[in-house]
Amino acid sequence: MMTRQARRVIAEFTRARLLPEGWVLEYRQLEWPHPAEPVTHWQVVGKLPASATELEVLQARKALADQRELFQVCTRCHELNPTGWMQNLQICQGCAAEDGAEY
Ligand SMILES: [Zn+2]
Repeated sequence: MMTRQARRVIAEFTRARLLPEGWVLEYRQLEWPHPAEPVTHWQVVGKLPASATELEVLQARKALADQRELFQVCTRCHELNPTGWMQNLQICQGCAAEDGAEY
C-alpha cells in the first residue's frame, strides 16, 4: 500500500508516454549543477507494449518506487524521495536542513 505522499512523488517524478512502438516510462532525473538550483530531465527507465492497459501502466509507474537507484525512503521522515533529493543514503535534504547541514 502506497502512502499519499509516495503517490504524489510518483506522479511528479515519473510519467508514461505512448509512442508508436509502445509505452515508455520516464523518470525525472534531478541534478544540482548549482546549489539550490536543480535541473531536471526525463530519462527512459522502462517500456511496456502499446497494448498495456491504463492500470498496467500505472502499476509499472508505482513499481519504480522500489528501484533504489531512482527513489529512496528517508529513514527519519519515512517519506519517499527521488534519489536526487537525498542528502545521503539515509536522510533526505529536508531532514538534513533541519539538522543545519550546509550544502
Ligand atoms: Zn526526511
